[in-house]
Amino acid sequence: MVKSDDSAKVPVLVTGGAGYIGSHAVLALLDKGWDVAVIDDLSTGFRWAIPDEVAFYRGDIADAELLARIFAEQGSQAIMHFAGSIIVPESVSDPLKYYDNNTVKGRALIAAAVEHGVPHMIFSSTATVYGEPDLKPLQEDLPLSPVNPYGMSKLMTERILADCSRAYDLNHCVLRYFNVAGADPDARSGQSSIGATHLIKVAVESALGKRGPVGVFGTDYPTPDGTGVRDYIHVSDLADAHVLALEALIAQPERSLTMNVGYGRGFSVLEVLDAVDRVVGQPVPRVMEGRRAGDVPSLVSDNSRIMETVPWKPRHDDLETIIGHALQWEKRLTGLRDGQGG
Ligand code: UDP
Repeated sequence: MVKSDDSAKVPVLVTGGAGYIGSHAVLALLDKGWDVAVIDDLSTGFRWAIPDEVAFYRGDIADAELLARIFAEQGSQAIMHFAGSIIVPESVSDPLKYYDNNTVKGRALIAAAVEHGVPHMIFSSTATVYGEPDLKPLQEDLPLSPVNPYGMSKLMTERILADCSRAYDLNHCVLRYFNVAGADPDARSGQSSIGATHLIKVAVESALGKRGPVGVFGTDYPTPDGTGVRDYIHVSDLADAHVLALEALIAQPERSLTMNVGYGRGFSVLEVLDAVDRVVGQPVPRVMEGRRAGDVPSLVSDNSRIMETVPWKPRHDDLETIIGHALQWEKRLTGLRDGQGG
């Protein structure tokens, strides 16, 4: 177990810090007293998601001149890399966008870190790298065979990082996320994209009358109730895992890590919707539909590695809490959009 050392804080550059997960990582870092800067092109993120005390650079993560300026101005000693494209079906129809945004630009960011001697990097990866897994909890050392360009574009960046850590003074941590949901408990940030497709976001939008009934995509999977099972994790617990991973990288600069971030348990679509009903206090309308292309029956993490490696203590490991925070944010978002025009 790598213990945190409070004296070891360094200036951190967060790429994609205006986005959903990146903005929560910024909050987690600030809450613990780290010095944070953000680079984001605002293609999907929101300027208002970045707190005022954070230095903000609008631009591209592959812009070498801009990165050189940021490193000089901020003295960045670590990068948390969230910027990227994340929509699986879009990656199938437009793979070049994914190899460009996630792999080519990731390579450019890593090159800049190496050139300027930034010694630590945390990388947002995904359970999608496991491909079509069987029903057992997924362990990090399984063979990796992504079945779509999104997962492959992330896996390629994992590989670039692994090779660069062997060759240069750079250690890194790959975090493979399971299903991220919920919002900051104080409603300072949350999932804000329009037209989101993720189950909990869709369900709270439906509960607030922002869309029609929730489609249940597939009722004939080999799972206990026939609907898809996922390991839903609270975004603020995920953000905390990033800070702990960074502390581990700083404490042991020779060591790189790859860790799943999940709670190690799954809920079916129907279990999620029943929990939404309880949180909202009335049934959320639902319609049974066929399977969605590309979905797998079950994705549940084996999280023993992260639990043994860093002192990660999930604070919101409760489905109704995750949904409650998502709902609270969705209500706040309505106000933000009404007040600011979107
Ligand atoms: N799902 C669903 N209806 C929706 C959105 C998702 O039934 O409107 C199901 C989906 O088939 C999967 C689970 O919910 O079994 C989680 O899907 P989500 O899109 O949230 O995340 P993914 O696991 O695809 O990354």
